Amino acid sequence: MRSDLLRQLPSVDRVLAAAGPHTYARKELVEAIRRVLDDLRRCIRSGEPVSSLDAGSVARSALELLRGNPAGMRSVVNATGVILHTNLGRARLSEAACRAVSAAARDYTDLEYDLETGERSARHRRVRALLATLAGAEDVLVVNNNAAAVLLVLNTLAKGREVIVSRGQLVEIGGGFRLPAVMESSGCRLVEVGTTNRTYLSDYEAAVTSQTALFLRVHPSNFVISGYHHEPDGRELAALAARHGLPLVEDLGSGVMVDLSHWGLPAERSVSAALEAGAGVVTFSGDKLLGGPQAGIICGLRHWVEPAGTNPLARALRVDKLTVAALEATLRLYYDPVEARTAIPTLAALSVPPAQLLARARRLARRLARIPGHGCTITVAEARAPVGGGSLPGTELLGSVVRVESPIPVQVLESRMRRAPFPVIGRVEGGALLLDVRTMADAEFSHVEHALAAALGGREET
Ligand SMILES: *Cc1c(COP(=O)(O)O)cnc(C)c1O
Repeated sequence: MRSDLLRQLPSVDRVLAAAGPHTYARKELVEAIRRVLDDLRRCIRSGEPVSSLDAGSVARSALELLRGNPAGMRSVVNATGVILHTNLGRARLSEAACRAVSAAARDYTDLEYDLETGERSARHRRVRALLATLAGAEDVLVVNNNAAAVLLVLNTLAKGREVIVSRGQLVEIGGGFRLPAVMESSGCRLVEVGTTNRTYLSDYEAAVTSQTALFLRVHPSNFVISGYHHEPDGRELAALAARHGLPLVEDLGSGVMVDLSHWGLPAERSVSAALEAGAGVVTFSGDKLLGGPQAGIICGLRHWVEPAGTNPLARALRVDKLTVAALEATLRLYYDPVEARTAIPTLAALSVPPAQLLARARRLARRLARIPGHGCTITVAEARAPVGGGSLPGTELLGSVVRVESPIPVQVLESRMRRAPFPVIGRVEGGALLLDVRTMADAEFSHVEHALAAALGGREET
């Protein structure tokens, strides 16, 4: 009986032929077919019931296996409301940046080539021109991320010397960026001044020695100090540094290029404001509030920035052409702040009016309510979510969510949605699954509908 069944198993070739048109590599599909056949063989040997053994159904199982476990990174619906969700890849790029990345990926480009002279040219010349206009930066260097930017600046300007930092700014930013550790890796000596909540200009002044290389000012990205608190402002600090012939280096974290207070958000210090107030060097991330690709941007006075470019570490931390393409396209959008607001998804998500969020949540709720026999209570509610990525600490954006209370346990629902063919990542709160529309595109509503329908149908495993 069992050997009969084993003999009925189709050959790999027959299954391949039965698979019909597909987009997988032959090798990939063969591998999946072998896994399905092995599985069937094991079931037959152990006497477990098996479903149909014909080539067509084995092919279908193999294709399903590939769909469920693709080797590559998968697109997901971010229904968490957290705009800069680090685990979900932080900023989504604008259409203009996506087009630029795609062209740069496909083609040879003039990345480091001057088409006028036919000679080698600087990789960052276009970003330099953009940031000169947009932020008044004299010189610019782009590296892999902001952690690399801070490391490179400190290693270049302060190796073997002292860096003065306020105790209130010795922060740890998620994902292993601890300022004291980065400073140690850069080879500089950390000189802490002031106390956790109060540091005065005189504390910096008193700490300056012949060994001092620079003052470092760090944005306390993921926490807020409230109450009895003092830090000297950037302008006073820059002036004091200048009196000693030293640069003020400001790690801004997010790299804001527009006035966020127009949209009722906290007024974050912008790149141009920091430079205008006299910072010699400013560093920030490409994929936080700037809304571009992962990158670390170093900009400021040529006298301080240029040496970082010739540091051997700069070569190790260099960005590729895809990053350059995405960053240039993103920055170009800032020429027109009105366009930037709608074209850069991070800014659009930050600034979307509450009435629009509510209307979109209602639309999604109506779509989900149409799922036949869903048995859920589907409502629209208000909920708050952080911005994420260590940006705008203490700010929770109030938005509209679709709240799904289902007959199946909420953890099971959440897990099924997350493991759907097009995964939907929501958040569980108060016994319901919340789907936040702030971080979703309208075009993604159909994925949510399919995922919910499948989750409630229980077609996938729990
Ligand atoms: C986020 C952040 C960093 C690290 O930036 P990455 O681009 O994630 O490497 C460093 N400093 C500050 C102040 C930050 O907010």
